[in-house]
Order: sequence, then structure tokens, then C-alpha cells
Amino acid sequence: MSKETIEFKAEVSQVLNLVIHSLYSHREVFLRELISNSADAIDKRRFESLTHPETADASGAYEIRILPDKDKKTLTIRDNGIGMTRDEVVRNIGTIAASGSRAFLEKLKENQAGDASSPKPGVELIGQFGVGFYSAFMVAARVEVITQSAAGGSAVHWESTGEGGYSIEETTRASAGTDVILHLRDEAQEFLEEWQISTIIQKYSDYVPHPVILEKTGGEKETLNKVTAIWRRPKSEIKDEEYVEFYKYISHNDDEPLAWTHHTIEGGIEFRLLLFIPKKAPLNLFREEAHSLRLHVKRMFVTEDLKGLIPVFLRFVKGVVDSEDLPLNVSRETLQHNALIPKMQKQITKKVVEMLEDLAKNEPEKYKVFFKEFGAALKEGLGGAFDYRERLVELMRYPSTAVAESDRTSLSDYVSRMKGGQKEIYFIAGPSREACERSPHLEALKSRGLEVLLMSDVIDDWTIPYIESYKGSKLRSVMKGDLDLSFIEGAPAKEAAPAEVKPLLDKIRAVLQEEIKDVRVTQRLAGSPCCLVADEGDMDAHMERIMKAMHQETPLAKRILEINPKHPLIQNLKTLVEKNPQDARFGFWVRLLYNQAQIAEGSELRKPEDFLRGVTELLTEASGDAVK
Ligand code: ADP
Repeated sequence: MSKETIEFKAEVSQVLNLVIHSLYSHREVFLRELISNSADAIDKRRFESLTHPETADASGAYEIRILPDKDKKTLTIRDNGIGMTRDEVVRNIGTIAASGSRAFLEKLKENQAGDASSPKPGVELIGQFGVGFYSAFMVAARVEVITQSAAGGSAVHWESTGEGGYSIEETTRASAGTDVILHLRDEAQEFLEEWQISTIIQKYSDYVPHPVILEKTGGEKETLNKVTAIWRRPKSEIKDEEYVEFYKYISHNDDEPLAWTHHTIEGGIEFRLLLFIPKKAPLNLFREEAHSLRLHVKRMFVTEDLKGLIPVFLRFVKGVVDSEDLPLNVSRETLQHNALIPKMQKQITKKVVEMLEDLAKNEPEKYKVFFKEFGAALKEGLGGAFDYRERLVELMRYPSTAVAESDRTSLSDYVSRMKGGQKEIYFIAGPSREACERSPHLEALKSRGLEVLLMSDVIDDWTIPYIESYKGSKLRSVMKGDLDLSFIEGAPAKEAAPAEVKPLLDKIRAVLQEEIKDVRVTQRLAGSPCCLVADEGDMDAHMERIMKAMHQETPLAKRILEINPKHPLIQNLKTLVEKNPQDARFGFWVRLLYNQAQIAEGSELRKPEDFLRGVTELLTEASGDAVK
């Protein structure tokens, strides 16, 4: 194979540019990223060699070497991991892990636009999107990769200055593995200093599970990291700082974790788990690849994406699981179907739920942070994790009319604030907290001091039916059904429409018979003349919008129009019906009123032009009166 020059994909150049410029103040992370790639490559080779012994390293000793060379001004990171074939080099290093790159670019640009709350733009993004290798160009003017795949084929020499493209050609290498050779820029010569290298590695890579060995001038070798499996050590011996450092290592992140839990499970099935909850949700939380429990079997790293190890609603958990019982000499696919996996999932779920309960009870401020970041994921569990539903319901937190805007309440706190005689938990669902709060449907409840939960997560609509009721109180949408507030003093007793408004109701019903199911006197309104509500079994307006957004064809259910007989406009209409039932303007006004109620519930008008023409007509009339 002759030497070839290949251009970078457009996105690679863009990402390279951004990485180099925005992460520059933390440029030492390049070493963490390259060492972590080497460690992964070693894990892959060790695992592969269990089923294909011919791919094992002859020495049996897997390690990462750091070779500074002051004369040549190069820093080499060498491993005897799985290596890469030519195709793999082109695929892995010539393009950016496609899934995240666009999101990465956008996020980075956003951060650069000057978000004061994020003093280190970009650093936490490196690991999330797989741009790790490119961080080499922060310190190197030129990077060479010499690699030989453990699967055979010839070795490959890749080289690039990070601008435009790269060259690739055949070469030779004594055995499988990879050398990444950095030709350091003048201003990055400090990374050739032994003390500097040791400091960085101790800071960022202490928990790499393979020895990281510095080859000093004169040939002396020093292992720089601890090479321990922290999760196998007794809890009592591990300091908090050690957990934090380990978390930073596995998450490629400088943030501390919000919480962690560490256990040895025994009896019937034996494994260790060390699980963390991050402080911030990643951008790709709701994508498949967000599951990241590192599965080890008898210490050996096996895979990061074994489905079924943790339920989907706990996708935010990071950490390590190390099994004593799973077989090692099988493929990942076979492992996936092992009968022990669901059993492990059960235990893991239990431990995570316990950790969350503990956090909610003993560190409510931290739990608040957790729920803000990951609450939407946890809510998925209400629909799926039947065994845990009751405990998950206790863990839910919702915005409410009774708590500060930035705050949320538990259902248990809601119940403790319920008014005497109140039997239901009121909620309203809408696109945002503000939209919920502005809704006319809340008026009567608010004016009577009744608390309403403001559900603005899309997923609430799917999960509320699963909660159904809490401690005997039904969850009830204030946009739906017949609301009975008669238990509250001052509320009109619930009764059939007083005879005196009946003619008005009949007349409205006649005008809107095509559009609505019924018209009745409201219990919900205080300041507005009317509103629309869904019938008990129908979808409310918010749910209809969601179904529409999901392209689900649903026949629109007719609403019930509720009128507020105390409002002057309704009183005028009532008088008009009594005095001049034939007045043609009645129908015109009622239609406009109905359109207003549609707008208030956030629905689209079928014929907005009719509404606008009507309003213009009224304004013309009113302004004419004013100048008379
Ligand atoms: P990430 O590690 O997040 O996938 P990188 O850009 O750091 O992103 O690396 C891209 C890919 O290149 C890796 O996923 C891996 O397949 C390959 N790679 C990088 N370094 C090595 C190495 N030392 N040995 C073998 N493969 C490597």
C-alpha cells in the first residue's frame, strides 16, 4: 500500500478548531484522553484473547508506556492493546464519532458565547462526544500514530498536523498495539518534564486499571498510577476523595459526583457495585448510548453497553459492576442473554432506589439538583418498574402553586397541605410552568387557596395515569370533568344550574351545538367569563397537542363550555336573552367568546379569520361610540 493523503471530514476540522481553542486552558487533559484510549484498547485485547488466544500479547503483561524524548521533542504514548487495521484507523481517527459531533459543536459554540455560570467551557464535553484523540493537537503541531491490529494484517502509519487532512501508509511494528507520537509545540515543551507528567497522571489517571509506566532518561521505569480496582476494596478503607477521583476518571469529567453507593452483593449471586449519580445530565441522556455501567467479570473489563444490566429509567447512573459468576470466555452477545443479568438488574435497581431515597431524606438540597437534572428519566420508571412504583411515586417532585417558582413539592407534602374536606390532588398539565399557572382553569382553586400541581414535563401526561391516586386521594386534572369545590366554604353549593340561567344555557347550546358537547355553570372560574374543559373520559387540550406532535391521528373530542354567571359579560348576555331573545348579535358574541376560550386553553382556532373579523367589528363599533 502506497502513501495516501486523505482530507478530514468537514466536521473533524471544525471540531479540531474548537477543541484546540476552547479547551486550551486545560490542555493537560490530552494525556488523560490518550491514556484512556490506550486503557480501553488493552481491555478490548484482553477480552478478545479469552475466546481467541492467538490475539493475546506474548508477554502477557499489558501496560501503557509514556516516553518523553527531549532531543526529538516528542512525547509517545505506547500500549499493547488491540491496535487498529487501516480501515479502523480511517474510520476511528479520520471521522468524528458521528452521533455526538453535531451536538458537541453546537454545545461548544453555545458555551463560548459566554455563559458565565460555566467557567471552563468545553472541558466536560470532551469525553461525552468522543473527541478525545483530537485533544492531542492542543499540544502537538504534528501527531503520528503507528498501530498494528491484534487481528493481524499489516501495521499502519498515520500522520497529521491537524489541518486539512492526514496521510496514511503501510509500515511495520514489532507486535500488536499502538504508539501515539506527539511532536510537541514550542509552548508545550513542559510536557516532556518527568515531574509534570507524573503530576498530571496522578491527577487524572490514577485509577486506570493498567500500569502507566514512565520511561525516564537513563532507562529507569516508574509506575505512576495505583492500578487498583477501588470497588474491590473494603468501603471502610476508602476515602471520599478517592471515590470522587475514581468518578472523574470513569466519567472523563472534572465535576464531582452528586452521590454514590458501594456494595458487595452476596448470597445466590455475587457481585460488587460502585454506582454514581452525576451532577449534570449529559446532552445525550435520552439516547441509547447514554447507558454507561462498566461491566467487569472477576476484575476484567468486559463492556460498557450491556443492555439489561440497569433499567432504562436509571440511565443516568454511572459506575462499575464486577461479577464473580458470569462466564468470561463467551461473546458479549452471549453474555447479554445470560440468566444472571436480570437478577443483577434487580439488585442494582434496589440499590439505586435506596440511594435516591436516602438522598431525598437526608440531603434534600442535593436531591433537588438530582430531580432537576434527571427527574424526567426517573418518571419513566412509573410506567415500567412495577415493583418500585410506590417508592418512585414518593420520589417524585412537581412544581406547584404553593411553592416558590424554583422549587418543587412531593405528593406527601401536598397532601399535608390539603384543605379540610379536600379529597383530590389537583393538577394541570401544560407546555410550561408559566402556561399552566396562567390558565383560567386555575382561577377558582387559587382564589380558594387550593393547591394545584403544575405538570409541564411532556412525560407527565404518560405517567400520571400510572400514579392514579396517592394515599387515597385521586389525582385530578382541573381541565377535565366536573369540578366539585362545594367542600370549601364560600364556594357555591354544587347543584344543577339555577333555573334563572337555564334559558341562557339553552340558547348558547343552540348556537354552539356543532362545536361543543355541553354548556354548564362553572366552579373553576373567578375572573374569566368562560373556559373549555374536557369531559371526564376525554383527552384534555395539552394531551391532544402532544398526540398531534407525535403524529398520532386522534379524533378531537368536543369540549364542555363552562360559563361564569358572575362575570358582567355573561350577566349582560343573560339579560339580553330575557329581554330580546331574537337579537341576532347574541350568536355572534357567543362565537367570539367560544373562540377566546379556545385560545385560553392553547388550542388553534379553526378559522382565525372569522375571529379577527369579529373583534375588528366590535372595536369599530366601540371606538365609534367613543367619538360620538
Ligand atoms: P473515543 O475514545 O471517545 O471513542 P477518540 O477520538 O479518543 O474517541 O478515539 C476514537 C477511536 O479511535 C476509539 O474509539 C478507538 O476505536 C480508536 N482508538 C483511539 N486510540 C486508540 C488506541 N490507543 N488503540 C486502539 N484504538 C484506539
